[in-house]
Amino acid sequence: MHQQTIAQLVQGLQSKAFSSVELTRHYLERIKRLDGTYNSYITVTEERALAQAAEADKRLAQADAPALCGVPIAHKDIFCTHGVRTSCGSKMLDNFIAPYNATIVENLQAAGAVMLGKTNMDEFAMGSSNETSYYGPVKNPWATDSVPGGSSGGSAASVAAHLAAGATASDTGGSIRQPAALCGLTGLKPTYGRVSRWGMIAFASSLDQAGTLTRTAEDSALMLNAMASFDPKDSTCVDQPLEDYRAQLDQSVKGLTIGIPDEYFGEGLNPETAAAVEAAIKTYESLGATIKRISLPHSNLAVAAYYVIAPAECSANLSRFDGARYGYRCENPKDLHDLYERSRSEGFGEEVKRRILVGTYALSAGYYDAYYNKAQQVRRLIKQDFVQAFEEVDVILGPTSPSPAFAFGAKTQDPVSMYLEDIFTIPTNLAGLPGVSIPCGLVGGKPVGMQLIGNYFAEGQLLNVAHQFQVATDFHQQAAPGIE
Ligand code: GLN
Repeated sequence: MHQQTIAQLVQGLQSKAFSSVELTRHYLERIKRLDGTYNSYITVTEERALAQAAEADKRLAQADAPALCGVPIAHKDIFCTHGVRTSCGSKMLDNFIAPYNATIVENLQAAGAVMLGKTNMDEFAMGSSNETSYYGPVKNPWATDSVPGGSSGGSAASVAAHLAAGATASDTGGSIRQPAALCGLTGLKPTYGRVSRWGMIAFASSLDQAGTLTRTAEDSALMLNAMASFDPKDSTCVDQPLEDYRAQLDQSVKGLTIGIPDEYFGEGLNPETAAAVEAAIKTYESLGATIKRISLPHSNLAVAAYYVIAPAECSANLSRFDGARYGYRCENPKDLHDLYERSRSEGFGEEVKRRILVGTYALSAGYYDAYYNKAQQVRRLIKQDFVQAFEEVDVILGPTSPSPAFAFGAKTQDPVSMYLEDIFTIPTNLAGLPGVSIPCGLVGGKPVGMQLIGNYFAEGQLLNVAHQFQVATDFHQQAAPGIE
């Protein structure tokens, strides 16, 4: 059962080939047996999963089952889940039981999905390797000496090891697409504002967006159908008509123009990764798409702008963790100042502290104009590059990350080398555009992903372009060695 995609599971459940309780028990048994190796879950919610599965079976019997009725999925531990620990990968929130559900958790529940548990992640979603988690690193199912990517490393590993049929995730600078690439999955970051951020613990609010990690583009469409909604509780959520993304997966790519940005194939890109992406471009050509070289001239400024804007926003967002309201509190504080200082020093890890310091500095009087304002101006230029490009092309294609999964510890001593993991994914977040990473080859036995970037709210077209590649190829069907 665990080999099946969400689309196949939905069919199996509706045709009564198996029940949701059987399916859920099967996944829970796999998690117990195998997740000691991968560490993809922080919390497994066995009782709640079985109760939801029993409920789903009732609805399946009455034939009024919603779209994902009975399908077992996992939630990244950044999404608040009522009555369940929501840690965000941090000691700061190790004791935090969320008093409500995030909107996307609520939406997926309404669609009948069963929650298996909460997945591991970099602390407060800051990282590209899952090595900053308070709960220990996650192992890549393709090579257990290597990272799964981050920050949604637990969500990616759980799906790649077939310990969940699909998982939610979040992407501020690449945290869905990069782990998708490193674990051989399909990872979708929707347009900023398409999916509610309410109940998703904030890192950098103008960049954060919730999305999906799945085996196929079709599964991403099914999950996005359930997750997307207009939510007045998130003031940046856009009141855009809901679409059936799956219904848009039958369009030929003939007549579409795919743009290939020169800037995404330069220095720093592993040559074998480049070759896999070039081969994918040929596949699209053979499917009838027109390929056009384009330029996104400000791409080289994106990482620098991001590492001012994201820390600035995180320094403001994370000021709420003060030891007074909720979360970690130090022992025996002497006075209020001591409470703040020690709770924050003891509760946050190194990378989070580094970002808070950088962000506070960039926002301080005298530096605001030089750093924060300048970064916002650069952000506008990056957005304009894309707006211009989309006057000539329908979709943009390039690599997702510079190289395949790297070994544990390889980049932890040099934050900048870690930050460069997201060199191709960050521009999309700065512009607020949707992006998807899909598998397009193996290098040294490890998966490589290509990234497709769509125009604003064109998730239907974007997922269709990804789906057409998956109809023509079988990279997405390959499982990690030893994962049957
Ligand atoms: N790796 C990037 C960072 O560390 C992006 C993280 C994310 O998308 N949440 O900030």
